[in-house]
Amino acid sequence: MSFFRRWRRERLLAKPFPREWFSLLNGVPIFPFLPPEDQQELLGHIKIFLAEKKFEGAAGFPVDDRARVIVAGNASLLLLHRETDYFPFMRTVVIYPTLYVARYVRAQPGGIVEEGVEVRAGESWPLGTVVLAWDAVAEAGFGQGARNVVVHEFAHQLDLEDGAMQGVPVLPPELVRPWQEIFFKEWREAAYRPTPLRLSQGNPAEFFAMAVELFFADPVSLSQYHPDLYGLLSRYFRQDPAALLF
Ligand SMILES: [Zn+2]
Repeated sequence: MSFFRRWRRERLLAKPFPREWFSLLNGVPIFPFLPPEDQQELLGHIKIFLAEKKFEGAAGFPVDDRARVIVAGNASLLLLHRETDYFPFMRTVVIYPTLYVARYVRAQPGGIVEEGVEVRAGESWPLGTVVLAWDAVAEAGFGQGARNVVVHEFAHQLDLEDGAMQGVPVLPPELVRPWQEIFFKEWREAAYRPTPLRLSQGNPAEFFAMAVELFFADPVSLSQYHPDLYGLLSRYFRQDPAALLF
């Protein structure tokens, strides 16, 4: 990391969190459950995230501090307790007001090109952009049955940091083997047993993003259905969100 960037981050961390932003944190549903030291760390990450990332509204969505703080706060949960460079490949967050319709063109085997439209709540693009639908962002919760689309999309960003989106983020050396043994075993087996991780595409990248989303939104369900996967994510994120609910 450049000296200048580190210096700028340290200066931001030393500044107080803007008072008018505190009330916006109710859009980060896990926040009141976090221990005070984690809350402090998260506030620091939010300041840096907002200083370094660009936001754009699409289809007339007015991006204000509320939207910015809520997206940054939920995304920064993935950064707590870890050496991190703040999603280094992600530069811009695009927010639509509502579930948006995207045109797609997909190459199929045999040279056929499939074209159509589909409704999406959010998506992660490899080229530095995360796209979100505000109504989905605003539904984020913490507890049984809760979802968190911001966490989901930024999990895809972590997955991309090693250059490929295949369910493996950049790992500390001690987790490389456990990841191969636990994550991929759970992914393969999930097709054959009851799981809240519905496998829409049978794809390990999607399995990873859904697991991370549940880890931060409905951690008790994840720990009940997939205790080994929960334990693995707990080691990776150095957090135990299920314990916050007891
Ligand atoms: Zn996804």
